[in-house]
Amino acid sequence: MLIAGGGPVGLTLASLLARHGIASLVVEADAGYCTGSRAICISRRSQEILAWAGVQDALAAKSLPWTGGRSYWRSTEVLHFQMPSEPSQRFAPMVNIQQYFVEQFVHEALAAAPQLAQVAWSSRVVDLGQDGDGVEVDIESPDGRRTVRAGYLAACDGGRSTVRERMGLQLEGTQYEGRYVIVDIVQKTSRPVERLAWFDPPSNPGSTLLMHRQPGDVWRIDYQIRDDEDPVEAVKPENVLPRVRSHLEMIGETEPWEPLWISVYNAKCLTLPDYRHGRVFFAGDAAHLVPIFGVRGLNSGLDDAGNLAWKLARVIEGTAPDALLHSYSAERLHATHENLAYGAKSTEFMAPPNFAFKLMREAALRLAVSDEKVRSLINPRQSAPISYAGSPLNLAQQGGWSSDMAAPGSPAPEALLAGPQGKFHLTQCFGKDLVCLVFADGPLPQAVARLPEHGVGVLEIPADADALGQARERYGLAERGAQGLVLVRPDGYVMGRWRGLETAPLLAALERLGWTP
Ligand SMILES: Cc1cc2nc3c(=O)[nH]c(=O)nc-3n(C[C@H](O)[C@H](O)[C@H](O)COP(=O)(O)OP(=O)(O)OC[C@H]3O[C@@H](n4cnc5c(N)ncnc54)[C@H](O)[C@@H]3O)c2cc1C
Repeated sequence: MLIAGGGPVGLTLASLLARHGIASLVVEADAGYCTGSRAICISRRSQEILAWAGVQDALAAKSLPWTGGRSYWRSTEVLHFQMPSEPSQRFAPMVNIQQYFVEQFVHEALAAAPQLAQVAWSSRVVDLGQDGDGVEVDIESPDGRRTVRAGYLAACDGGRSTVRERMGLQLEGTQYEGRYVIVDIVQKTSRPVERLAWFDPPSNPGSTLLMHRQPGDVWRIDYQIRDDEDPVEAVKPENVLPRVRSHLEMIGETEPWEPLWISVYNAKCLTLPDYRHGRVFFAGDAAHLVPIFGVRGLNSGLDDAGNLAWKLARVIEGTAPDALLHSYSAERLHATHENLAYGAKSTEFMAPPNFAFKLMREAALRLAVSDEKVRSLINPRQSAPISYAGSPLNLAQQGGWSSDMAAPGSPAPEALLAGPQGKFHLTQCFGKDLVCLVFADGPLPQAVARLPEHGVGVLEIPADADALGQARERYGLAERGAQGLVLVRPDGYVMGRWRGLETAPLLAALERLGWTP
């Protein structure tokens, strides 16, 4: 397996493949991790995926967790939002951490399986071809040019993907005009970690400004520049620093500070119309470019990796037919369309593209000062996992269920459980194999106990293991004594659910898909 691009998505894909026992070579044009300010907000779902990639502890030790934020219109607070979170949770709804740390941690975790994952740094994919059996990729490095052959290629080579360009494929969609300056500064602060947004603040009249804390006493500040401003001039320190100073003074941050990084950004809503082309798969920014507002860029790329890894592994090891790989494109394209719809809405609010949008935003902000009901309109909806409604992998559910949270195609809900070794989270059991959650008390019927012979792991959830009742409530078996089987995919999505403990329909469904142990 070849992976073009050793950014966060390519490295994570390599790590997840290694977890499934599949060897890969990552070909990375640069000599090391990314520089500058890119992704900083990592969602709960991404933390789950990164935990499968072996970086849970490193990420938790370095990152700054947060649960909500505040928005201000001029000098008035118009919104204080909280994302769903509970004391029993495994991960915070969001953590802040610089993208290069994510790359470093995943790369370091890869070292645990050197026979399964290698990274060729300073090596650029320059051309490729494919036939019915595999792909051939030309790679240039300081040692010269060589051709490598592999069964499949994952194009994770970013927004300017060479693979995409060499295959003559084009992203489709919209590019927004509005530009944002991105400034990282070092400054000590005692503020809580929150998402902070100002619309038309006295420090920068007419602009929109966002602030996020990052590890290492770093503030990330994003502010909108006027349409008539020259972006080249806008990033010059003499134009940036006074705006930053004015804002820090306005909010009372008085510690000494210095700039670390300045760049300019404009939002794009672009995607390939298909993420599979024969034996080549596109993931991350190579497949789609999502606006940064709502933080769906890297977060959706990590979901691509989580979706693709187990499917490739099954097909490569011969336990599923090639058709499984088509579902990668179907599911992740659906997710991209949802992400782009959210991203476009957020962008139109953060940087209104015309006078009408500007007027509507002004009206919403003005009303939000006094009317609580309007505040939901200005609540920035942060990245969340997307349900794969209509996926070809969803199995019909049988019987009545008291909750739709775990309907086929949904991300499997989290729950805190108790086992013989102590408390654990349900999502800790996902990430590798198919798992059947068995909601029942007492000894298991033989057919259920024998599911592992069919390649399906079994996790018993008797009522006393579910002391908080979270699993029964969220999986739709709230009534006392209810029994059921819930099949969860290796990437933590519900595939099907059946009332009772009859395994025949589950096994018949897997057989129809052509999956073998
Ligand atoms: C200012 C800014 C802020 C952002 N904030 C967020 C955020 O808070 N949350 C979020 O989720 N997302 C955010 N994003 C988006 C996020 O940075 C990207 O979505 C993410 O980097 C995508 O990862 P990737 O691995 O797909 O691509 P990249 O990170 O671009 O990695 C691609 C890799 O491929 C390599 N490469 C390129 N061409 C070749 C070639 N021919 N051969 C070999 N290697 C090659 C590159 O060197 C690079 O290392 C932000 C982006 C920007 C610009």
